[in-house]
Amino acid sequence: MNYGLRCGLLSLILLLTACGEPQKAAPELLVYSARNEHLIKPLFDRFTEQTGVAVRYVTDKAGPLLTRLQAEGENSPADLLMTVDAGNLWQATELGLLAPLESEVLNSHVPEHLRGRNNSWFALTIRARTMVFNTDKLAATDLSTYEALAGPDWKGRLCLRSAKKIYNQSLVATMIATLGETQTEQVVAGWVNNLALDPFSNDTKVMEAVAVGQCDVGLVNTYYYGRLKQQKPELPLALFWPNQQGEGAEGRGVHINVSGVGVTRVSKNKALAQQLIEWLTTEQAQQILMDSNQEYPVNPKVEINAELQSWGTFKSDQIDVSEAGRLQATAVKLMDRVGYR
Ligand code: FE
Repeated sequence: MNYGLRCGLLSLILLLTACGEPQKAAPELLVYSARNEHLIKPLFDRFTEQTGVAVRYVTDKAGPLLTRLQAEGENSPADLLMTVDAGNLWQATELGLLAPLESEVLNSHVPEHLRGRNNSWFALTIRARTMVFNTDKLAATDLSTYEALAGPDWKGRLCLRSAKKIYNQSLVATMIATLGETQTEQVVAGWVNNLALDPFSNDTKVMEAVAVGQCDVGLVNTYYYGRLKQQKPELPLALFWPNQQGEGAEGRGVHINVSGVGVTRVSKNKALAQQLIEWLTTEQAQQILMDSNQEYPVNPKVEINAELQSWGTFKSDQIDVSEAGRLQATAVKLMDRVGYR
């Protein structure tokens, strides 16, 4: 046998061997994320460092990600869906896109009212949608409840973000669950009647209007306040925690919402995907989430950082946040009826 032929045969044998025993691919997860890259990449990098599991991600808004998961069906390459607002997570559950998980770790790290029904998703962080007021014009003692902002005293003094934003839809939906539709409609109609200006396209614009005195008080998510105060600490703004006193609905606590994550129903790496979620609720991951976006950790064992502590403590509404999804359509119709755009 000449050298060339022998070498060719050898190559063939090696090739066959290689095909017969394919090298095992390194474990890898794919996350569809409505959270921005700058927020998730540092977390996933840390997870990869510690476990050797690579985490890839596709970022988009929640709506398109849900549509994509539905369209891809059984063939979807996504292992996890990460998004914000219980309304979106509820929607994903209703569409049958998420797999229920059994995990002692998650059950101990994530309070029950901040998980999907059947544990189809788990909150990772908490944000409060609370009041922000102009400290030159108001004292905290002038404020009390979400409902009170509907009263005649507040005529021309309130600023709100658009009713199109799911954060407001979820707030109104949980009010419907607690107060009923009739009372909620009166409250939201009162808010609209008290607006100083047309609703804004984002929470930061609400705070800027409050800061320059175009209105006295607004409703915003806590992390937007944290971001703005970091950039412009001189602004005459402070947070107020409503519905802290009183019995029943009046003292139900501040409306909270979540960011969260679930494993897709069609994932072929469910155990690994669950491991990532469990890791995201550990102290170290929760710390990174809290420090990078000034959201509250979902794991009650994690200590709140100094910045969040400086905003004071509050009682939060203990309602199951999935109610925000269940009553979302009702809330949207209600807001439309009273002219909240
Ligand atoms: Fe946001």
